[in-house]
Amino acid sequence: MSQKSFHVMVIGGGLGGLCLAQGLRKAGISVAVYERDRTHNERLQGYRIHIEAMGNRALHDCLPPHLFDAYIKTTGSAGTGLLMSDEQLNHLMEFAVDLTKQNNLLESSRSVSRITLRQVLLAELDDVIQLDKCYSHYQENADGSVTAFFADGSSATGDLLVAADGGNSRVRQQFLPQAQRVETGTVAIMGKVALTPRSTHCSSLTSSIGQPLCLDPKDVASSLPSTTSVARPGSGSGA
Ligand SMILES: Cc1cc2nc3c(=O)[nH]c(=O)nc-3n(C[C@H](O)[C@H](O)[C@H](O)COP(=O)(O)OP(=O)(O)OC[C@H]3O[C@@H](n4cnc5c(N)ncnc54)[C@H](O)[C@@H]3O)c2cc1C
Repeated sequence: MSQKSFHVMVIGGGLGGLCLAQGLRKAGISVAVYERDRTHNERLQGYRIHIEAMGNRALHDCLPPHLFDAYIKTTGSAGTGLLMSDEQLNHLMEFAVDLTKQNNLLESSRSVSRITLRQVLLAELDDVIQLDKCYSHYQENADGSVTAFFADGSSATGDLLVAADGGNSRVRQQFLPQAQRVETGTVAIMGKVALTPRSTHCSSLTSSIGQPLCLDPKDVASSLPSTTSVARPGSGSGA
């Protein structure tokens, strides 16, 4: 089968699905992305994300040069490291950034707005992405193709189905029913604070190397007001 006739269906238009779609398009492979959200701005998907060297290289390989350039231009330095502590601010572990690579944009750790990164990844994919397509299940066909079914009653057939539908992947639930998500007992609570002398001082009390990340017992989450954003590992929101 030639590359042109091979058709890939990607379920989920998050960071992974969009990056893959960009890479497949760059390689000349037919691709369609099916995303359940009705619009690209339907919900806030976190605010900032760290991209390490491997991620930079993947974006470099998948994006056309002008979009990779736009990505790089909208990133900043990821700081000097990340500290994890428990709810009593006891240090659990630290990740220090290799500062010798700070000037190498491809090999250094970058910090980027998730919204901006998503805009870059969405660019020029209008003919590839289908919104308001909530995937429900798939069926393998006798001729080797695969058909994906959606909640609106429609379906699509291709040669390969990719699960990029996040931590609660429905594709995975059907393909690997034995692979269950495991509750680790920790939650991460993320928020933005204004950079004032006081917040800078508080931050330096908990961490000497950069961003502090405090891990709390999970029962903290149930005592929070419903308006508080609680990010669970794999929930798709980001730092
Ligand atoms: C608190 C937190 C901080 C993080 N920080 C970082 C970081 O600094 N650096 C880093 O590299 N990673 C970080 N991550 C991990 C990163 O966010 C995820 O690895 C990344 O978002 C996964 O991308 P994805 O495309 O696989 O899934 P997602 O980004 O979750 O996208 C899944 C997409 O699939 C869609 N979808 C779901 N179900 C369906 C369906 N049935 N039909 C159609 N579409 C569907 C969703 O609407 C969504 O758009 C962090 C994660 C968390 C929770």
